[in-house]
Amino acid sequence: MSRYWSPVVHGLTPYVPGEQPKLDQLVKLNTNENPYGPSPRALEAIQAATGSSLRLYPDPNAEVLKTSLATYLDLPADQVFVGNGSDEVLAHAFMALLNQDRPLWFPDITYSFYPVYCGLYGIRSRLVPLREDFSIAAEDYLPGTEGRAGGIIFPNPNAPTGCLLPLEAIERILAGNPDTVVVVDEAYVDFGGDSAIPLVSRHPNLLVVQTFSKSRSLAGLRVGFAVGHPALIEALERVKNSFNSYPLDRLALAGAVASVEDEAYFDACCRKVIATREILVAQMNRLGFEVLPSAANFIFARHPARDATALAAALRERAIIVRHFRKPRIDQFLRITVGTEEQCRILTDALGDILPG
Ligand SMILES: *Cc1c(COP(=O)(O)O)cnc(C)c1O
Repeated sequence: MSRYWSPVVHGLTPYVPGEQPKLDQLVKLNTNENPYGPSPRALEAIQAATGSSLRLYPDPNAEVLKTSLATYLDLPADQVFVGNGSDEVLAHAFMALLNQDRPLWFPDITYSFYPVYCGLYGIRSRLVPLREDFSIAAEDYLPGTEGRAGGIIFPNPNAPTGCLLPLEAIERILAGNPDTVVVVDEAYVDFGGDSAIPLVSRHPNLLVVQTFSKSRSLAGLRVGFAVGHPALIEALERVKNSFNSYPLDRLALAGAVASVEDEAYFDACCRKVIATREILVAQMNRLGFEVLPSAANFIFARHPARDATALAAALRERAIIVRHFRKPRIDQFLRITVGTEEQCRILTDALGDILPG
């Protein structure tokens, strides 16, 4: 606390990211990074961009990346917005689109950055409880006894549950809220979900946000993007250009474009992660865990007889880190990133040791 702070700072509750330990020898399954490296072509492009041109500012409009994404997604470039990680894209969406008179609706169990942005921008929110089985129900987001939403946001698949909402349900939410922006945060959609991007042409109130951090193995590069009607994109551009003209640096632009172009590598990595997830789920079930159905690169699991805090601590003693949230309804779950097959085996072997005792 300091008397020099702006008043808003006193009231902030910042997001707490998963730990990035300094130790190398850990089996790190706590922040949903990809266990495989980025596309070799992305790495080459980043190296090639390292030179005296770094004395120059990058393109403030990131045209090359927007064009490359637009081609890849088969959309006009004015329907694409790019930012310094999807967290920044989301921050701009909160400011530009979700900051309305009526409260923003999002699930009670979801990405914990959403309430943080609400705090930063002074946005009122309404937490919509997930159903008993931890699913999102479209009906709960339609106008009704609770009034109607000033904005709606949820990840699909949801975090940290991994549960997927089918596109039909998303379309019901969109159609039932024509005057409300609906943001679908697709950080994990490449691991088994259907993207809502094809719905953008029919629903001018839909903004879809994706990231290069998970499925494209580029969390360290910080690249995210949004797709929506040009009017929504223009709102994001206005906020971005009132905040930072150059959010994507030259290396990020070069690496991201090359990553988009290397579709074969991307597909192969996603397929490996999905295959390993299925093995991991089967092993966890064998160990007695209940695992929520996951369409993501992580699983959300609880053991009927063992305390999650104690399990996380026991794993940590064996140099394996997973994520545990001390929150109502989910404090007996562990969120475990799908690593390599070898990492997952180390994890399930360790649990096999820990559980009997
Ligand atoms: C990881 C994650 C993000 C943020 O990704 P960055 O692009 O690395 O900022 C956004 N939303 C959800 C749900 C995530 O899990």
